[in-house]
Amino acid sequence: MGVGKLIGIAGTALKSNVVKLGRPYKLNFCITYNCQSRCRTCNIWQMRPKGELTIEEIRKLAAANPYFKWIELTGGEPFLRSDIAEIAKAFKEHSDGLYILTMPTNSLCDHSMVESKLRQILDLGIPRVAITVSLDGYKELHDMIRGIPGNYEKAIDMFKRLKELRKSYSNLYFVFGYTLSKLNMGKFEETFQAVKRDIPDIKYNDFHINLAQISTNYYNNGGMDITPNDPVVVKEISDFIDHREPTASAITLIENAFLRRLLEYAKTGVTPMPSRSLEASVYLDSFGNVFPSIMWDMKIGNVRDTNFSLEQILKGEQAKRAIDEKRKGKEPQHWTSCEAYQSLTGSVISILS
Ligand code: SF4
Repeated sequence: MGVGKLIGIAGTALKSNVVKLGRPYKLNFCITYNCQSRCRTCNIWQMRPKGELTIEEIRKLAAANPYFKWIELTGGEPFLRSDIAEIAKAFKEHSDGLYILTMPTNSLCDHSMVESKLRQILDLGIPRVAITVSLDGYKELHDMIRGIPGNYEKAIDMFKRLKELRKSYSNLYFVFGYTLSKLNMGKFEETFQAVKRDIPDIKYNDFHINLAQISTNYYNNGGMDITPNDPVVVKEISDFIDHREPTASAITLIENAFLRRLLEYAKTGVTPMPSRSLEASVYLDSFGNVFPSIMWDMKIGNVRDTNFSLEQILKGEQAKRAIDEKRKGKEPQHWTSCEAYQSLTGSVISILS
């Protein structure tokens, strides 16, 4: 079953090399803006969200849009939604070709509760469930950036729990997600060595690196001076690429291609490849608002106005205007993993080059 779905998502990605896709295959869905962290790179935690989509509405959404192959359930802290397993189940029930479900966590929820929810999600039989455990530095650095004393230990503990859980679930994947910003530039190697003391068999491949970026419709961090534009960061990404071990997996190939473009982006601040927003992916926030991507604050509709049909919004006038803006090169510059993988899989040559 997993192989069939892998062929499905790979086929869609490959198809996007030669023709325009009729509808997106990836949904970036912020299921809640609630967050108990206090990050200095993001203002989501300052929001007091009211009127977020209910589980009944999300079930209607999943039923009305049964074509996603990759769903990212993000936040806020997604595990603050007590119905997260129900949300995953709703998409699994309706999207036959669903191959991968990805979720980040700040490790601040009760770990037994997270493990219990995760077991429910893993038991759904989605071929790939991937968790990104946020970790932005060694103990003092991570806790300073995240504004929560003790957060480092919790991230380490979460990673260890996932390692244990993996023994029972071959469909579970996980990495540390390291966001490079002005607050931690030049500190990755020190962080890696600190983590190695706590998790001796940790590998560079167990980390995913992102660059802190500005997004007014997602991180709510407009005006923050966090994106590093410094040779130190370029070298840091370059060293990280050199340290990564080659593997035969397609995910490693794509991740390496992502990092090579991240290096370009860190040097130039210019999106290194054409964006696939709207075509391969779309961003839905927890209030039902739809945007081309997490990085583009251009609302194109709300699913509460279309009986939860995303396709209706994607065919609407505002979406057409966004496509026109894209053609004119007016989409904001960005390179984040939420959006970049679709660009990469839309160009096989870029993965191999
Ligand atoms: S980066 Fe993540 S953990 Fe930090 S405030 Fe934003 S949503 Fe919360």
